[in-house]
Amino acid sequence: MEFVFDSYCGVFCGACPIMLATNAGKLEQDKQCFGCKSEKPTGYCKTCGIKACANKQGIDFCIQCTQMTNCDLFQKFTSDPVYQYGQCVIKNMEKIQIIGLQNWLEMQAKRWRCKNCGETQSWYQESCPRCGQFVENYKADL
Ligand code: SF4
Ligand code: SF4
Ligand SMILES: [Zn+2]
Repeated sequence: MEFVFDSYCGVFCGACPIMLATNAGKLEQDKQCFGCKSEKPTGYCKTCGIKACANKQGIDFCIQCTQMTNCDLFQKFTSDPVYQYGQCVIKNMEKIQIIGLQNWLEMQAKRWRCKNCGETQSWYQESCPRCGQFVENYKADL
């Protein structure tokens, strides 16, 4: 199955701890996630209201929606204290609009790797899971 790294809400799934654990073969099949827009999203992201709404409207990203600034669902997501990476998604989508999806995906694939050893890191990690060097987490992107 193919991994898909972009999402309707602007999250970069490629640095999600669940996708990274899936890719590393660390999760049981029913817990594996291949991305929001993939054939196999998992958990909350399987039935996410934002995805359902964007699908209904036929758009690829919430930023294409005229309701985004007034959307309770989207506002709740971007201010969720438990899921703080959500604060980055507007900037992510603005960047996608400027440089295009493919360029953004390439940029993100580099951004979420340790500069020392090249290991992938998640949104929340502050040290490389392989070599221990400091890595910038989501806060650097706010
Ligand atoms: S769990 Fe959600 S955020 Fe994580 S990779 Fe899957 S769809 Fe993306
Ligand atoms: S109404 Fe809200 S959840 Fe639906 S596409 Fe627009 S911003 Fe996204
Ligand atoms: Zn490293």
